[in-house]
Amino acid sequence: MISRRKFIRSSFLLGAGLFSSASLDLLTGCSASCDFVQPVKKRKYVLADIHNHTVLNDWVRNTPIGVKFPMLADFAQDFFDKTSTTWKSSYEAGVDLICTAHFNPFDEWISMPLDPNPSAPANTFRMMDLLEKDLNGPSAKYAKLIRTPEEFKNHFYKGYDKNDPNFRIAVLHSLEGGHALGGRLEPLKEFARRGVVLITIGHFYNKGIATAPNAFPFFPDANSVRPKQGLSPFGREVIHEMEKLGIIVDVTHATSTALDDILKVSTKPLIATHISAKTLGDHAYSFHDEHIQEIVNRGGIIGIPLYPYMLSNYANIKDAEEYGSLSDVVRTIRYVTKISNSLKNICIGSDFGGYIPRLTDMNCLCQVNMLRELLVNEFGNEEIIDDILAKNVIDFIGNNWKRNI
Ligand SMILES: [Zn+2]
Repeated sequence: MISRRKFIRSSFLLGAGLFSSASLDLLTGCSASCDFVQPVKKRKYVLADIHNHTVLNDWVRNTPIGVKFPMLADFAQDFFDKTSTTWKSSYEAGVDLICTAHFNPFDEWISMPLDPNPSAPANTFRMMDLLEKDLNGPSAKYAKLIRTPEEFKNHFYKGYDKNDPNFRIAVLHSLEGGHALGGRLEPLKEFARRGVVLITIGHFYNKGIATAPNAFPFFPDANSVRPKQGLSPFGREVIHEMEKLGIIVDVTHATSTALDDILKVSTKPLIATHISAKTLGDHAYSFHDEHIQEIVNRGGIIGIPLYPYMLSNYANIKDAEEYGSLSDVVRTIRYVTKISNSLKNICIGSDFGGYIPRLTDMNCLCQVNMLRELLVNEFGNEEIIDDILAKNVIDFIGNNWKRNI
């Protein structure tokens, strides 16, 4: 078993080695392109994406490592980021809402020997600043930040019309990974004030809140917490405080034991922004049927990622990239709606921009119309498709985001 520091150092060297040996062709060949837009702007609802890493590349570029080694940031984007979301193309495609998930890999990975990283909340505010600067500047003509439930309701429920020249994509802040709290409850209030609508309390590793499945089994910390430990006492406090402040709890990335605990202590509807069903895709992150059913029975909502590897049982990521398609997404939607006996508790959390592999038939959010066409074939009713792609999660946020500060 190697130490964390040794692991991080050798990973860095391996990354640098890969970088120097990769051909330019390989680097540019993997980058996502956004030039295929099917205009569907006139449709009232197109897509509300509840989990999207819209600014991850910008953030990596702005971190001390990214500033010092911009080529590494370029490499990360070109080599790993095979899906794409741009404000312009999403706007032109008529996307309704994008919930930006802020995730700082450096707080979760590099700071591991210092768990939890006390600078994590400050770094998270910087990520939020970065998004806001863009939305107040170059991207203001495409998208606007929604900071309060009142603004949200005004935007969607009072004469919502995409043909209005003032129409903009509604953007929400969310956090992926409770490590953003830096081990303290206090930052939650400021997150709520800044407009954070939901927090995924777990992520790749146990950061003292809830156990997460082994994201990287070769990593020395992966087995550091026994599965019987679900939600920690601090995790319970986090949920209580989030509920008090009106921030929605996202249970994605929780182990089944953590889920059992969360279901015991939570009193408000839960969201799972980007999960798969274990019956269809047997991965550590996938949820058992009974957990999906319980979340729905309590008025929660299930987001399906546009991520075939997670949704099905491909032998490996390479196979998933070669064969995975929107049909995996449709199959999961069919299954989850069937076992939960509801067409109103399901939505899309693409995970695009989160360094996930691409689908063979969609790599940019602006291509969402292809998913619509497949869903129309499946369900045969445009209204149901509007619900699945957008309306369900808009109503869920409208009903459950409170911001009590
Ligand atoms: Zn995730």
